[in-house]
Amino acid sequence: MNFKREVLISKDNIAIVKNNQKCLKCGYCVSACNEMQVLNHCKSPLELKKLCINCGRCILDCPVDALRERYNYLKIEEILKDKKKIKIVSIAPAVRTAFLEEFGIVGKNSEEKIIGALKKLGFDYVFDIATGADLTIVEESYELESRLKENKNLPMFSSCCPAFVKYIEEFYPELIPNLSTCKSPIAMFGTIIKTYFKEKIKVNAADIVNVVVAPCTAKKAEIKREELNAAGVYTKEKGIHDTDYVLTTRELGILIKRNNIDITKIKNAKFDNPILIGSRAGLLFGNSGGVSESLIRTVYYDLKHENLKEDELVIKELRSAGGIKEYQSQNLELKILAVNDLKNAKDILDKVKNGEYVADFIEVMACPLGCINGGGQPKTTLLNKNKIKKLRRNVIFEEDLKSKHRLCHENPFIQELYANFLDSRGSSKAYQLLHRTYKAKSDLKEK
Ligand code: SF4
Ligand code: SF4
Repeated sequence: MNFKREVLISKDNIAIVKNNQKCLKCGYCVSACNEMQVLNHCKSPLELKKLCINCGRCILDCPVDALRERYNYLKIEEILKDKKKIKIVSIAPAVRTAFLEEFGIVGKNSEEKIIGALKKLGFDYVFDIATGADLTIVEESYELESRLKENKNLPMFSSCCPAFVKYIEEFYPELIPNLSTCKSPIAMFGTIIKTYFKEKIKVNAADIVNVVVAPCTAKKAEIKREELNAAGVYTKEKGIHDTDYVLTTRELGILIKRNNIDITKIKNAKFDNPILIGSRAGLLFGNSGGVSESLIRTVYYDLKHENLKEDELVIKELRSAGGIKEYQSQNLELKILAVNDLKNAKDILDKVKNGEYVADFIEVMACPLGCINGGGQPKTTLLNKNKIKKLRRNVIFEEDLKSKHRLCHENPFIQELYANFLDSRGSSKAYQLLHRTYKAKSDLKEK
């Protein structure tokens, strides 16, 4: 069919923009979309426009930049001039593995450079989404343990990848009960900023502009979902979103270049108090298998009342570059699958749909190798693609190995948050603020 020579993007798509004048109809985007298992399901151009899961794979493979993310950096420049607003920005785990590639430097953790640049741009607070990932693990592990006890809605699927969530909603709606109801780290963190943190700094939620830098284009659509407005419901303030804007890693590069900031000379800086740095287990979210690895560290503690030994923390089976990784924990009687690249998910989802036992927990990341290779990361060439992917993964693994903070449940900020604000894991307040609902068909108004 003709429409399968190029992906068709709706004018209203929240995450992706297409310039038809530039398009060569070369079909590279079509192959990328096919790999994501989306195009296969589409019978008409209209369906493709509606079913796009916003993953951004087509952007990475387009040779002439006819496809790109919907930019927010101009809006951010405007907001940064607004003296009345409190400007908060947080960095997702995978961004620091690739950001310096925008400036020709590969394989370096750029965390402190990014913080320095964001401060220079005029943000009031810079936080770490790895802290949001710590919170997700603490809540999600409790949810998994409860489901295992009740033998209900298993296997549980991770829910932090919005492209996978939309894929389930559109193509496997009968499996929605298997999705963890925990929000993604970005979504949880947005709620905490506009509830707990706004109380700490004694402002209204509406006074805060909450920005996230992410490796992901699908996050631009995720933050607009109507159910991700727990702070608005909690504070009873009208017209606010938990997270206001998502900038991709590439957009951050554009913003820095436009503002003539010399990244090589920028002074390194640290994340702001009181939210501090996330644990390095939270940082593992950037790599496929990382959610599972962090989860096991916390589930082990919950069930065995002691932490895994230092030399047991790294689970090699979950760190390979494979598309489907399997880990059977004898100690915990738990089988885990970590799947990346949606082309690897279909058979597994079909088996689950047919009632076959495949695992107790299944992590799915839409992008190959996970968020380190997300649709919003710097573009690579065909020649250096595999080398760069490896270097990005190593940044995360090295950080985990050298850190003293490798357990999400030991993050002092998370402990304080539960003790003084959320009551306890799985409490009604935690459900109100940290959990979410799904819809069999996305109701985002894309045409
Ligand atoms: S963003 Fe993903 S799902 Fe949408 S057209 Fe591009 S490759 Fe296909
Ligand atoms: S794997 Fe990560 S970057 Fe890719 S779509 Fe999912 S959340 Fe976004």
